[in-house]
Amino acid sequence: MNQVQILASVQTFLQRQHGHFIHGQHIEVDDTRTRIELINPATEQPVSSIAIGTKPDVEAAVNSAQDAFLNAWANTSPYERGQKLNKLADLVEQHAEELAQLETLTTGKLINLSRHLEVAQTVVFLRYFAGWATKIHGQTMQPSIPSANGEKYTAYTVRQPVGVVAGIVPWNFSLMIGCWKIGSALTTGCTIVLKPSEFTTLSLLRLAELAIEAGIPAGVINIVTGTGETGQYLIDSKKIKKVSFTGSVPTGIAIGKQAMHNDLTRVSLELGGKNAAAILADTQIDEILPTLLQASFVHQGQVCAAPERFFVHRSKYEEFIQKAAVALQQFKIGSPLDESSMFGPLSNKPHFEKVKHYLDLAHQNNQIICGGKVIAGTGYFVEPTLLTVRGIDDPLFIEETFGPVVDVIAFESDEELISMVNHSRFGLTASIWTNDLAKALRLIPQIEAGSVWVNMHTFLDPAVPFGGVKASGLGREFSDAFIEDYTELKSVMIRY
Ligand code: NAD
Repeated sequence: MNQVQILASVQTFLQRQHGHFIHGQHIEVDDTRTRIELINPATEQPVSSIAIGTKPDVEAAVNSAQDAFLNAWANTSPYERGQKLNKLADLVEQHAEELAQLETLTTGKLINLSRHLEVAQTVVFLRYFAGWATKIHGQTMQPSIPSANGEKYTAYTVRQPVGVVAGIVPWNFSLMIGCWKIGSALTTGCTIVLKPSEFTTLSLLRLAELAIEAGIPAGVINIVTGTGETGQYLIDSKKIKKVSFTGSVPTGIAIGKQAMHNDLTRVSLELGGKNAAAILADTQIDEILPTLLQASFVHQGQVCAAPERFFVHRSKYEEFIQKAAVALQQFKIGSPLDESSMFGPLSNKPHFEKVKHYLDLAHQNNQIICGGKVIAGTGYFVEPTLLTVRGIDDPLFIEETFGPVVDVIAFESDEELISMVNHSRFGLTASIWTNDLAKALRLIPQIEAGSVWVNMHTFLDPAVPFGGVKASGLGREFSDAFIEDYTELKSVMIRY
């Protein structure tokens, strides 16, 4: 057991009466209003509380972002924008332990995951976006209009920031996903109002303070805390020119409709998945198992890109389930603040109830291969679980559990594999595990998913576009793909 000591700075931050972060300042809110308690999912004890943003709170944040867009940020050169994002990344590095502890205390993420994935990747992404600030450009073109009297024509395009962006963030990787949106907005010259999840809000509130320290002008990043209703006020604002949402499919669809009604506000949606990992006949199970199980069960399966359906070639099925069950039973379940824990709690009570419902369903129908139990005592702990399925219409095959609950299904032929993989409303990610690269290359085009990995899964890299097909989303983040979403393409023609 190696229990982490909570930093004094974290304790002080938890004790603050948190409001919103608007125009570079912490905004006190009326104390008589209802607040949301933030619960540590490992102990079920409150750790802090946040305010519920009202319509006037949202309006104040949007007005500040609009003012900063037209004035402070518009007067900043691309080079300065890149520098300030890099400075923010420096400060995240300097405050890494503080941010990691805030994440772990409110999400139950293992402390080493908060440190080495959430915070470390936040730095990587911020620096990647910083680099784009000086590289966004248009094109020149030669119009084909005939010249009657010797006049000439030229044309060019310019990419201009859309304006104020609304970023709506889920609870699973609040800081990192929040910074995907901040990085994309700021590097293109947009400003942003973020609405973090009501379950994990603190790391983004702290980040907004660091942004001021980094020299990012007041109003460029604003945070309004609260529930889905607060998010709705944000999307309804006429001054919001783009909504960048990450979360569940039902919320994404509601937000998409609302944004369209609001004079066609641009919207990008990064939604859920029921991702497949296909383990082909030639695969050595011992070789792939640690990486595959890590991909599925990291952060207790609460990763949108993680595989929830393992398709195993019939010839390897028995070996696979036997070895996977042994490996999962060795996961050390424990406090997320204990550095030796391998598996922590689910992140919040409603999600715990949802996963329990799926486990109950699996028990009722004798589908448990291993795991399946809720851990008695305090905290939202369940065992990592493998299931059989009762056919392609089984809810456990169809619905995203977003938890440590993975189906294992045998297949015989490539045709059967592809038909089962694609039997889903989702299309976020997939992976193929094989040494037969020619076969993998033939399967890749047939898989309905935004990302396909070979011999790996859930590797998000800023240089590689990420997003879903079908109900898993609309639009792409990262690489140069995000630029189109955060800028308007203006065409200019000149006669001379
Ligand atoms: P959620 O949809 O319940 O909530 C996401 C955010 O939207 C929260 O901040 C919430 O307060 C807000 N919200 C809820 N209703 C709203 C409304 N009507 N208008 C505006 N805002 C509203 O999702 P969650 O439970 O926080 O996150 C889990 C889901 O997110 C899973 O489905 C997971 O797959 C998905 N996810 C996707 C990605 C991706 O990149 N594709 C990444 C992480 C999580």
